[in-house]
Amino acid sequence: MDLSLSRPDLTEREQELVAQVLQSPTLSQGPMLLRFEAAFAAYVGVSYAVGVTNGTCGLHLAVVTAGITEGDEVITTPFSFVASSNCVLYERARPVFVDIDPKTGNIDPAGIEAAVTPRTRAILPVHIFGHPADMEAIERTARRYDLIVIEDACEALGAERDGRKVGEFGHAAVFAFYPNKQMTTGEGGMVVTRDSAWDERLRSLRNQGRGKAGTWLEHERLGYNYRLDEIRSALGVAQLDRITDLLARREQVARLYTERLQSLPDVHTPEAGPGVKMSWFVYVVRLDPRLNRNRIAALLQAAGVPTRPYFSAIHLQPVYRERFGYRGGEFPIAEQLARSTLALPFHSRMGEAEVDQVCQTLTDAIQQG
Ligand SMILES: *Cc1c(COP(=O)(O)O)cnc(C)c1O
Repeated sequence: MDLSLSRPDLTEREQELVAQVLQSPTLSQGPMLLRFEAAFAAYVGVSYAVGVTNGTCGLHLAVVTAGITEGDEVITTPFSFVASSNCVLYERARPVFVDIDPKTGNIDPAGIEAAVTPRTRAILPVHIFGHPADMEAIERTARRYDLIVIEDACEALGAERDGRKVGEFGHAAVFAFYPNKQMTTGEGGMVVTRDSAWDERLRSLRNQGRGKAGTWLEHERLGYNYRLDEIRSALGVAQLDRITDLLARREQVARLYTERLQSLPDVHTPEAGPGVKMSWFVYVVRLDPRLNRNRIAALLQAAGVPTRPYFSAIHLQPVYRERFGYRGGEFPIAEQLARSTLALPFHSRMGEAEVDQVCQTLTDAIQQG
C-alpha cells in the first residue's frame, strides 16, 4: 500500500527518451528542449513556451520581462506557495496582497480594484491547487488600469475555465515540474506567452542575456542561467505525451476521495466552481474550525498517513513578518483557510484500497481528535 503524500508516475517511455539523450553528445541546448517547448505550447494553446530550470526561476523571468522594478507594486494572493510572492521581492518590488475567495482559495477579484495604486504594474494570480482563478474578472481589471497579468499556473497544468486552458490568459504564465506536480522533470519549469517580444526577451534572460543574433560571448542585458537541460527535457516530452492519462487518473482518485468523504459532517471536500475543469494537483480537505487540525494531522501521521497543511499564509511567514510588519489578522479569509486545510496522500497510482485506508484513518482521527 502506497500512502505517500505524492509520487511521480514514470514509465519505460521516460527511461527510453532519457537514455536517448545520454547516448547523444548534446546534454544542453539541443533538440529535446525544442521538442518539449513546441509540444508544451501546442498543449496549452499558446504560441511560445520557454523551458526553465524550475517554476521559481520562471516566475522571476516573467517579472523581469514585465519590467517590474524597485518601488513597483504587484497585486497577488497571500494563500499560495511562497515563490509566487518571492519573485516580486527578487526585483525589489512590493507584493500587495488581496484576500481570497473562501470557496476557491483563489484571489478575490472583488478586492483587486481597491488595491490598485499609481504604482501598480501587474496582477499575479495563482491557480491554487489546480482550480483556475477568476481570470475574466482579473482581465477586466487589468485592461481598465493597463496592468500586466502573470499567471502562476504551477499547480494547474491542463485546468480550464470556460473552455480556455490556464496559461492562455495572461501576458505570461508559469508552470512547474517538481516531482509532486501533475507531470515532472525532476526540477523544471516552463514560461508560456502569446507575445513574440516576450518570447525573445525570456529566451535572452534565460541564457545569460545573450541576444538572438549575437555571439556566445556577447551579453546585451543582465541575464541568468535558467536553462533546462536535455535530460530533463526528455522527461518532459515523455510526461507531456501521457498528460491526458495522468490527469484522468488523478481526477479518478479525487472522485474516490470525494465519494467517501462528502458525507463526513466535519470535512469539506474540494469542489470545482461553475465553468471550471480542475487539474488535480493535490487533494485538500478543510476541517471544521472546531476541530484541532494539527492534532488530527499528528494522529494520522502516527497511523502511517502523511498529510500536509497546504498552505501557511505567505504574509505570516517569518521573512514577510520581518520585512513588512504583518502580525496576523490582515487577511482573515486566507488565515482561516490556512488553519483548516489538510492535504491527503494523492498521486496517480492510488487505488481504492489506499483511498479507503486514508479515509478510514481520517474518520478515526476526527473521532479521537
Ligand atoms: C510549485 C510551485 C511553484 C514553483 O515551484 P518550483 O519548485 O520552483 O518549481 C510556484 N508557485 C506555486 C504556487 C507552486 O505550487
